[in-house]
Amino acid sequence: LGTETFVGSSGRVFPDVMKASPLLRAWLKRLEAQGATLRTRHRWIGFADGGYVFETPEGRSIVHCDAALLALGGASWPRLGSDASWLPWLSEKGVEIDAFQPANCGFVVGWSESFRERFAGEPVKSVTATSGAGTFPGEFVISANGIEGSLVYAHGASLRDQLLNRGSAALTLDLAPGRTIERLTRDLTRQDAKSSFSNRLRKGASLDGVKAALLREFAPERDRADPGRLAGMIKALPVPVLETRPIGEAISSAGGIRWSGIDDDFMLKALPGTFVAGEMLDWEAPTGGYLLTACLATGRAAARGIEAWLRG
Ligand SMILES: Cc1cc2nc3c(=O)[nH]c(=O)nc-3n(C[C@H](O)[C@H](O)[C@H](O)COP(=O)(O)OP(=O)(O)OC[C@H]3O[C@@H](n4cnc5c(N)ncnc54)[C@H](O)[C@@H]3O)c2cc1C
Repeated sequence: LGTETFVGSSGRVFPDVMKASPLLRAWLKRLEAQGATLRTRHRWIGFADGGYVFETPEGRSIVHCDAALLALGGASWPRLGSDASWLPWLSEKGVEIDAFQPANCGFVVGWSESFRERFAGEPVKSVTATSGAGTFPGEFVISANGIEGSLVYAHGASLRDQLLNRGSAALTLDLAPGRTIERLTRDLTRQDAKSSFSNRLRKGASLDGVKAALLREFAPERDRADPGRLAGMIKALPVPVLETRPIGEAISSAGGIRWSGIDDDFMLKALPGTFVAGEMLDWEAPTGGYLLTACLATGRAAARGIEAWLRG
C-alpha cells in the first residue's frame, strides 16, 4: 500500500506514520482501481427471494449474487455496528452458532466502598498475575466495578471459563515479583510487630498505595500479623472475580459460527456460496494485533475460497 513500515521491539510491524488513516485511504484507492464498488449506509437485514435484503438510503433492495462474503463482526462494542443481528438469520438457515461471550474483557470485583472511592482509575503496575492460563507480568487498572487492562485481558478466557464451569474464579497476584518469599519474610520479620500494618508493609516490603490496599481488601486478618503468611499473601494474593463485564464493553467476543459449520474455504456448509470471515467465527485471541491479523487472514482465505468457488 506504499506505506513505509518498521518492525517494533515486539516483532510487530507498524507504519512509520503510526496512523491507520493513510493505510485505509490507500487501500480504498486500490480496491476502486480493481473495480470494487463500495456501497455505504447499506444494512443487511436478512434473506428473501433467494437473495440478500438490504436497507439502503434509497429503500429496500435485494441482491442476488454468485457468492457472498459476510464479515459482520462479533458481538462486542455493538454501538460500532457489529451487533450480531445476523445470528438468527443464519441460525434459521441451519448454520451452527455458539452463543457469543465477552473476550478481552474486564471483570467485576466486589470492592469495599472505601477501596472503590479511593482507587478507581488507579493503575497497578509491575505485578505478575496467575490463572489457569499461566503466569504473566504486566499491569492492569482498578475500575469502579472491578479490574480491566492488558494483564486482565491476557487471563480473560481462563477466568471466564472458570466462572462458567466452577462458578468462581480468582486472579492471583504477585505484588512483589522482584523479591523472593524468603527475603520478604526476613524483611517483614525485622519490622516492629507493634507498628501499623501500613508501616510494616512499606518498610518491610516496599508496598504502599493501591498494592497495600489490595492486601487490606483480600489478605485475611490472621495472615497480616504473621510475617511468613503475609509474605505468602504478597507473593500470591487471590483477587476473586465475580463475573465478566458485559459483552458490550468487551474488546472482542468468543463464540460465533462453529468451525464444523464451514468448509476448508470458509464457505458455510448450510449455505453454499456464502463465505464468512473475521470475528463472526468461533475463535478468540489476545489484543495486540492478533485479532485484526486473524480477521484479515480469514478474510483472505475466504476470498481465495470464493475465487475457487466461482471457477466452479
Ligand atoms: C475498543 C477496541 C479496541 C481494539 N483494539 C484492538 C487491537 O489493538 N488489536 C487488535 O488486533 N484488535 C483490536 N480490536 C478488535 C478488532 O477491532 C476486531 O477483532 C476486528 O475489527 C473484527 O473485525 P471483523 O471484520 O470481524 O468485524 P468488525 O470490524 O466488527 O466489522 C464488521 C462490520 O460489519 C458491519 N455490520 C454488522 N452487521 C451488519 C449488517 N447487518 N449490515 C451491514 N453491515 C453490518 C459493522 O457495522 C462493521 O462495520 C479492538 C476492538 C475494540 C472494540
